[in-house]
Parts: sequence; C-alpha cells; structure tokens
Amino acid sequence: MEKWSVVRCPACRNCHGTRTRARQCPHCGQTLPSSTPIVATADSAAQLRIEVALANTPEEIRDELRKKLEASEEPLVAINSTSPRRLYTLILEQAGKSGIIRRDDVEEVLLKVESDMDADDLLDQLEINGTIIRRQDGTWQLLE
Ligand SMILES: [Zn+2]
Repeated sequence: MEKWSVVRCPACRNCHGTRTRARQCPHCGQTLPSSTPIVATADSAAQLRIEVALANTPEEIRDELRKKLEASEEPLVAINSTSPRRLYTLILEQAGKSGIIRRDDVEEVLLKVESDMDADDLLDQLEINGTIIRRQDGTWQLLE
C-alpha cells in the first residue's frame, strides 16, 4: 500500500501532501531538500487532506478540527485510474463557456475525483502538452 506524506516547507512553513518525496513547495515554489521532514503520513488521499489541513492549523485548535474533518469525511470511492484526459474533460466542464480556468478550479476537479495529483503538476502537464496556455493574470486559457 502506497503512503502519502505531509511535508512542511522550510521556507514558507506551509504543509502540503505528496505521494513521493516532495520536490517543490506548491505554496512558494521553493525547491525542497531531500531532508525536508515528513510531519505526517496518510493511507489515502482523503486522510491526506485531513492531515494537511491539520498540519496547517495552529496546534491549539487542531484536535477540534480533526474531529470536525473526520466526522464530515464521507466514505470514499477511489478513482485511481483517473487519466489526464478525463481530468481535462472535467476541467473543461469546470471552465464553462469562458474557457478560462483558475488554479482553484483545477484543485476542485482533483478533489472531486479524489486524485492525489497536485494541481500545479497537472497544470504544468497540460501546459507542456499545449492544451492550456498561461495568461498574464495567472489564469489559464483552454486551447481545445
Ligand atoms: Zn514553501
């Protein structure tokens, strides 16, 4: 069983989840050293979300938040085989008529399909493929 890890970026102190060793902080873009400490591990993408939320929460309200998050977590149907093509279709739907997406839209889609993929990784991949193009204002224009 593969494990997810929560790591804390030494530069901006934000935590994020990763399936392999983290390479880059999604918050500040800092390249993470291999010595970056793992602050928590999770067995599923759902648990990972909880652990990341908790790691980014001040210690004094962590217990309370954990209770809340674990209570609201619904039983999961894992979609492990979500292909980039399928993701793109969902992003397309999310973008609607405008054909413009924000990083939040991508995160929402990834959340929806329980993907452990990083929004930035997916955006990079789509950009490399030439399916999207980065706009000046930090959003992306879909090209298909
Ligand atoms: Zn950072």
